[in-house]
Amino acid sequence: MISVDDLRKSAETCVAEEPGRLGSAGWWQPPLLAAAPVDSRFDQLPRMAAADHLHPTDLLPTARSVVVFYIPFKPELVKENKPGQRPCRNWGVAYVQTNELIGRVSLAIKELLATGGFDSGLTPATHNFDPMRLMARWSHKHLAYLVNLGRFGVHHLLITPAGCTGRLGSLVTEAALGEHPLIKTDEACLLKAGRPCRKCIEACPVDALSENGFDRTRCWQRLNENYQVLDCFSDLPASTDVCGKCTTLMPCSFKNPVAKSKSTIVVLKKNDFHEEIADLDEI
Ligand code: SF4
Ligand code: SF4
Repeated sequence: MISVDDLRKSAETCVAEEPGRLGSAGWWQPPLLAAAPVDSRFDQLPRMAAADHLHPTDLLPTARSVVVFYIPFKPELVKENKPGQRPCRNWGVAYVQTNELIGRVSLAIKELLATGGFDSGLTPATHNFDPMRLMARWSHKHLAYLVNLGRFGVHHLLITPAGCTGRLGSLVTEAALGEHPLIKTDEACLLKAGRPCRKCIEACPVDALSENGFDRTRCWQRLNENYQVLDCFSDLPASTDVCGKCTTLMPCSFKNPVAKSKSTIVVLKKNDFHEEIADLDEI
């Protein structure tokens, strides 16, 4: 039987081999991976994310588990993206290369599961959303929340035990993998946990964030504008719509700042969602 640990090792190997494949130092730290059974919690995706969000069984009718992984960026890259109001070139390069890496990790896990006779369903890392409503039909972020890989921050990104400055990928499989949560607190954002912070709100160059909301149109316009105005992005694909200022060198960038060493794992039950949170996976 293939275990979640086997999937984790496969993802780790794939991420570790990527710099050698590219002939560069790479941008990535070892990935995290969580899984959960396909149960009624996923019925709430249309309410949580987008009205036409796909159910895991839409990807694969025989799906029994959802697997979500998170690939954190190295601190050097994040530090490089801190100065100024626009992203640095390497932030854009890392975005493009990580999209490809997410595809490779997903495929490696699919192939591993196939050796056990299990089929899997994959989706693209990004750009699977409605350009008018700016809502994903398959939101890696909301799936990561539902499998307890992390919790949402005020910046509307997922904060995992390894922070929020990285990228998510997900797949469904007919293997029954069981419940494998990773987050250990019921909140992972300082502000949401009742502690002072607001750093992401203050860092946003277009005031798209507030304690109670997220102006997704304003954010999306900024991401597109960045590609248009940055000469250093001219050789990158037009889909390189990035910013990342609200995740760069924040208290939640590389860890769950709410975590305490003796905390116990909190698994959200169905209907136990804190709020309806819209999606924008490209941040
Ligand atoms: S920067 Fe602070 S307020 Fe913003 S998401 Fe992170 S912990 Fe929460
Ligand atoms: S990605 Fe940039 S524009 Fe969007 S909310 Fe974060 S800081 Fe603001």
